[in-house]
Amino acid sequence: MRFEVLTLFPGMIETAFMNGVTGRAASNGIVSLDTVNIRDYCVNNYGSVDDYTYGGGAGMLMMCEPVYNAYLEAKKKAGDEACRVVYMTPQGEPYTQEKAAEFSKEEALIILCGHYEGIDERVLEEIVTDNISIGDYVLTGGELAALVVMDSVTRLLPGALGNDSSPDNESFSEELLEYPQYTRPGVWHEKEVPEILLSGDHKKVDQYRMREARRRTKERRPELYEKYLKKRGIF
Ligand code: SAH
Repeated sequence: MRFEVLTLFPGMIETAFMNGVTGRAASNGIVSLDTVNIRDYCVNNYGSVDDYTYGGGAGMLMMCEPVYNAYLEAKKKAGDEACRVVYMTPQGEPYTQEKAAEFSKEEALIILCGHYEGIDERVLEEIVTDNISIGDYVLTGGELAALVVMDSVTRLLPGALGNDSSPDNESFSEELLEYPQYTRPGVWHEKEVPEILLSGDHKKVDQYRMREARRRTKERRPELYEKYLKKRGIF
């Protein structure tokens, strides 16, 4: 899998991605990261990439041409004609684990990060295939949002977590949040680990975990729990 990120702040993307699990996945060749600095495609000697918005209003808007030329460069590097172009925007489809799984099947993804008030609509119309939002709030730029997508996609790639089966039982994989988990010591601040987890009876442990996952989901995410019940015809 290959990420091509169009950004005004490549350092932000590279520093964050090259740490931890995603950094290891990159070192192991499971994923590769490349950034294209939109500033390198500025329209004049002052390095301008933004301008005032037509019709007035506060703030600056990123211009078509620098974004478009940065996109052409990323597309060439990605070497994939049909490569999806994901624009990070609060006006996009809400990002989910399902979407992460879908993206993880792509050969390459071009991810576009906006700044200031956003980007001229015309270039977005021309290049973007997916508008994705990471939540109902407004960030100063698309970099943190892009990192959320890249992180969640990378950990689904075979070998990225070092144990291929680990994403299966996780939160959201079955419309359920994950059950609570414990590690050593067995007693901490007078709190004991649930006895059943020490029993060695795998069937009982599985049942306990399922019960806890349902209970937690019902309590913390009732709307998700309803979806879970509906999908299994329990409603
Ligand atoms: N004026 C725009 C917001 C611009 S925020 C509007 O009202 O829709 C600047 C940039 O930050 C955007 O271009 C986008 O790339 C990024 N961004 C902000 N909030 C985001 C969110 N919730 N999800 C994904 N990207 C976001």
